Amino acid sequence: MDGRRRFPPTARRKEGVHRDSRLDAQRSDWEKASSFLTQKATIGSLFLKTLKIPSRQIKVFRALAQTQHETPSQFPRITATIDFPRHPCFKSRPMSDRKTLDERHQMTDLERVRHSAAHVMATAILRIWPDAQFAYGPPVENGFYYDFEMEHRITPDDFEKIEKEMKKVAKQNQKFEYKAISREDAKAMAESGRLGGLTERPGNPSRFKLDLIDKIPEGEQISCFQNGDFIDLCAGPHVGYTSKCKNVKVMSVSSSFYMGDESKGQLQRLYGTAFENKEALTEHLDRLEEAKKRDHRRLGRELGLFHIDEAVGQGLILWKPKGALVRRALQEFITQELDKQGYSQVFTPHIGKLDLYRTSGHFPYYQDSQFAPVPERDTLEKLADEDATCATLINGLNDGTYEGYLLKPMNCPHHIKIFASDHHSYRDLPVRLAEFGTVYRWEQSGELGGMTRVRGFTQDDAHLFCTPDQVAEEVKGCLDLVKKVLTTLGMNDYRVRLSLRDPESDKYVGSPENWDKAEAALRDAVIHLGVDYTVELGEAAFYGPKIDFVVKDVIGRDWQLGTVQVDYNLPVRFDLSYVGADNKPHIPVMIHRAPFGSLERFTGLLIEHFEGKFPTWLAPEQVRVLPISEKTLEEAEALAAKLADLGVRCTVDRSSDKVGAKIRNARLERVPNMAVLGQREIEEGTVAVRIRGEEKPIIKTEQQFIDDLLKEIAERSL
Ligand SMILES: [Zn+2]
Ligand SMILES: [Zn+2]
Repeated sequence: MDGRRRFPPTARRKEGVHRDSRLDAQRSDWEKASSFLTQKATIGSLFLKTLKIPSRQIKVFRALAQTQHETPSQFPRITATIDFPRHPCFKSRPMSDRKTLDERHQMTDLERVRHSAAHVMATAILRIWPDAQFAYGPPVENGFYYDFEMEHRITPDDFEKIEKEMKKVAKQNQKFEYKAISREDAKAMAESGRLGGLTERPGNPSRFKLDLIDKIPEGEQISCFQNGDFIDLCAGPHVGYTSKCKNVKVMSVSSSFYMGDESKGQLQRLYGTAFENKEALTEHLDRLEEAKKRDHRRLGRELGLFHIDEAVGQGLILWKPKGALVRRALQEFITQELDKQGYSQVFTPHIGKLDLYRTSGHFPYYQDSQFAPVPERDTLEKLADEDATCATLINGLNDGTYEGYLLKPMNCPHHIKIFASDHHSYRDLPVRLAEFGTVYRWEQSGELGGMTRVRGFTQDDAHLFCTPDQVAEEVKGCLDLVKKVLTTLGMNDYRVRLSLRDPESDKYVGSPENWDKAEAALRDAVIHLGVDYTVELGEAAFYGPKIDFVVKDVIGRDWQLGTVQVDYNLPVRFDLSYVGADNKPHIPVMIHRAPFGSLERFTGLLIEHFEGKFPTWLAPEQVRVLPISEKTLEEAEALAAKLADLGVRCTVDRSSDKVGAKIRNARLERVPNMAVLGQREIEEGTVAVRIRGEEKPIIKTEQQFIDDLLKEIAERSL
C-alpha cells in the first residue's frame, strides 16, 4: 500500500529546478555537518546518516567539504548542489498556454491581427456550422489557430469555403467591441450557448467557455469581444475592425485535446495565417511552398536517405545506405577537425545504471522525457513472487531500493567516468572526450516528426575537463570548430545566444570570480567568432553560462542547433578532481559541447538547405557513369572501378534507357557529377562531364576529370 500511496511521484518534476525541501529544512544541520566534515570526513558520513541525508549526497558533500577548506564561507554552494537542474540537453516545455493580462497586452501588432483573425475564422465557421463549440484561439508563431468541437470533420476541401466566409466578415468591416462583464453574466452567456456563438443556442451550452471562465483567477476582470453577431470570451487585445484581417489564409487542420488533456475528448484545430498586407502574406506563402519542396521528410523518402518504421518505433530513425553515406561523410569531416583540435574519441554503451543518473541528478527527476527504466531481471522475479504492484517497482526504482538501467538520456556521466578512471595532474588538462553518442529521450508522439524531433539521436557530443583558467581557450576552440563546419557547408548566416547569470541572484554554483572569468571568456570567444550575438542575462543555468547556436538556412528559416555549456556542478556531484600546481586537489570545470545538436537534426537541416543536392563531398553517390549504349558499357565499368579504387562513390547506369533518360534520372536523384561515355569519347580518351545544375557537358580527358573530382572532394567544395 505504501508504494501505491507514493506513486505517482510528486508534481515537483514539472518544475525547472527541483529542491529537496527535506534537505532544505535541514540546512542548518548541513552547515553543522559541513564544519564537522571538514575535520573528520569518515565520522562525518556517519553523522549525515543520523541526519537521514541520503548516502548518495554524502559524496557530493565530501567534495564540497574539500572546497570549504579553501573558502570556508561559501555555504550557498551546498544548497545549490541539491537543486536538480534542467540539463542543457533537455529542452524546456511550455508550462501553460494561458497568458497573463500583462503578457497579452504585450502582443505585437501582427499578433493582434492574427488573434483577431481567429475571431473572424470562428465567425465564419459558425455561419456554416452554427453548432460549433469553440475552446481556445491564440496567435502562434506563423499565424493562429482555433480549437473547436463539432460533428462535421473539417477537411482541406472546406478551406476555400471558410476562407471565403472570412473574407466576407472582413469586408463587412465589423468593429471589435470590448465589454467588461461580471463572472455571473459570463457564466449565464456561456450556459445559453451565446458565448462563442452567433446567437443563443438552447441546449448547447458553451462548455469550454464555462471551463475557461472557471480558470480566470478571482479578481481578474472578465471580458468579451463582439464583432457582428459573434461574441467571444476574450481579454483581447484586438485590432479595431475586421477589415484589418482580410489578408488571411486557412492553412491546415489537425486534431487536438482540450488543454492538451486526452480525457477531455478530441477537438479539431484549424490553423490559419494572417498578415498586415497582401505582399507579406504572398511572401510567406511562397516561402512555405519553397519549404515544402525542400521538406526533408519527403526528400528523405524520395532520395532513399532514411526511413521511419512503425514496427521499429516512432521517432527512431533508420539510416538507409544513402543517408548513412551522408552521415559518414559528415562524421569524418567533424572527426578530422576534432583530431586537429586534440580531442580523444571514445565509445560508450547506450545504457547505464540508474545510480549513475541519480548522481548526475537526471533520475528520477526527468522521467517525463526519458524512456522508462529497465529493472534487473532478479528484481522483476522477486517482485513477481511477492505479487507486488507496478507502483512498488516504480517507487523502488525511483528511491534506489531496486537497481536498474536507463537508456542513456545524455553522454556526460559516461564521459565523466572515463575521466575519473585516471588520476589527473593540472599538466594533463584539458582532457577532451568526444563521441558521436546516441541518446534516447521520450518525446510526446504528437511532437515527433522526420529527423528533427526524434526519440533516439546521436549527438556530436564532447566533454572537456579543464582548469578555470583554460575555459576561455577551450570555448574559443569549440566556436572555431563551429565556424569551420558551417562555413564549409555554406551556412554563413548564423548567430549565437549568450546566456549569462542574473547579477541580482545568488542561486549560482561556483565562485563569483570563476563566473566572471567564464562569462568574460564566453563573450570574448563570441566576439572572436565575429557573428551577431545576443546576451540574455539571467538565462544561464545555475551551474554555468552557455552559448547556443541558431543558423539561418537558404530560405531564411532559423534552425536551433546545439550548445556550448560551462558546468561547475557535475564535477562536484561526481567528486572529480585533479592535482594542481600547489599539489592540492582541485575541482575541474566541465564544458559540454554539442554544437550541431544531433546528427539527425543536422542532417535534416542539410537536406532542406541543399534541397537534397549535396555538394560532391557529401553526396551519397558522387559520380554516375552513363554509357551511351551497351557498346561502351565495358569502358564505363572500367572507369567506375578506377574511381571506386580512389575512394569515389560511384555507380554505372546499366539500364537500356536512352542517354537523355539516364541524365534525367541522375538529375532526379540529385547526383552531382555525370560522366557520359560514347564511342567518340572512348576513341579520344575523354569523358563528357555533366555537372548538376549546368546545361552543357564539358569535355575533359579522363585524367583531368579524375583530378578535378578528387580535388573537389578533398577541398570539400560547395
Ligand atoms: Zn480575442
Ligand atoms: Zn553533457
